Amino acid sequence: MRLNLLDPQRSRPLTLKVRDENSFICHKRYKIKVSFYKELIDFMGFSTTAIHAGNEPDPVTGAVSVPIYQTSTYKQEALGKPTGGYEYARTQNPTRSALEKNIAALEGAKYGFAFASGMSAIDATLKLVKGGDHVILGDNTYGGTFRLFNRILRDYGVEFDLADTSNIADLEKAFKPNTKMVFVETPTNPIMTLTDLKAVSDLAHANGAKVVCDNTFMSPYFQRPIEHGVDIVVHSTTKYLNGHSDSVGGFVALNDEKDAEWIGFVQNGIGAILSPFDSFLVLRGTKTLAVRMEAHDKNGRVIANFLAEHPGVQKVYYPGLASHPQHELAKRQQSGFGGMVSFETGSIDNARKVLEGVKLCTLGESLGGVESLISHPASMTHASVPEETRAKLGITDGLVRISVGIEDVEDILEDIDQALA
Ligand SMILES: *Cc1c(COP(=O)(O)O)cnc(C)c1O
Repeated sequence: MRLNLLDPQRSRPLTLKVRDENSFICHKRYKIKVSFYKELIDFMGFSTTAIHAGNEPDPVTGAVSVPIYQTSTYKQEALGKPTGGYEYARTQNPTRSALEKNIAALEGAKYGFAFASGMSAIDATLKLVKGGDHVILGDNTYGGTFRLFNRILRDYGVEFDLADTSNIADLEKAFKPNTKMVFVETPTNPIMTLTDLKAVSDLAHANGAKVVCDNTFMSPYFQRPIEHGVDIVVHSTTKYLNGHSDSVGGFVALNDEKDAEWIGFVQNGIGAILSPFDSFLVLRGTKTLAVRMEAHDKNGRVIANFLAEHPGVQKVYYPGLASHPQHELAKRQQSGFGGMVSFETGSIDNARKVLEGVKLCTLGESLGGVESLISHPASMTHASVPEETRAKLGITDGLVRISVGIEDVEDILEDIDQALA
């Protein structure tokens, strides 16, 4: 039989000759069961997908790079007949559509939506629950995510409880009859605790709840949550996906058609869309995601090992270290460890000495850019987390976090060494 499959990453439909829907086709490294539409997204390797998915040459000029369609509206040929299918730029913009196809493909998802920030992407995802629903939130998620639940969603009747999602027994106890969603982040910021995505997804699904994973720290290059059973992936594209510290944005990727329809409705209905220019920047960023992530990972391992041996450092949090309690899970669930390293200096004075003593690393919030950034979670990213919760998690005043950049690793190492001296 001949099978016409609509591959969302290509404009042309794919015609395949197959025996039946259960036969396998081999393409490059991938073996694909034809009946799994979703797996067709894996047709290309990661870097090929990153460079080509959504990046079709411009149909008008042939421009290889997707243009910034800086327009708010589009000409209609006749009443109710938009020229190219576009009507108004809050609803759709070709630059944003290209990025949406691109990141969805990288996450192995059918649908993707780009938002004005990571927080607006997370907020749109939370529009899948209603007042009276209960959400289980990982007890060590990004501070802004906790704040969204604690200070905003609570007033709209969304109930939530914190749970240590790295501990399945603890998580199991948190389910209630009205639990509709489990929201996890792995590895967590800044303590680098992992959550077993497969185990959490199995448990949540058995309880009728969806699983959302914030995949900002790993990026789809090192971790593809949907492959482990997660329903919805969210990102702050501000970090690794864009990768150059020059854009704020967010993303939601998912496979469920009905939920995707609603996220798209929310994106247009509330309007927290990613601008054409930012869409262009992130689209440019993802083309080099693979090489950047490899470099972050290589440097991250060197810095983590150096810190682990340093007498001025009491503890290092990095899943790539054999001493990390979940090193085995990290090896199983991720294909790399990334560039985020946290370490305990013992006191606020020691932390200040390091944070203010660095010359190459920049003291600042955020992460995932090509340049090394150093921060103080207790007073910066996690200031909105109650002190007792911080203490329980290990986010002490002496904790320092580095987003290891892709500079020459000897220079980063020397900088941290002199600041610790
Ligand atoms: C930065 C960050 C966010 C929030 O994203 P913004 O783009 O700053 O709105 C959410 N989750 C994680 C893990 C982050 O690092």
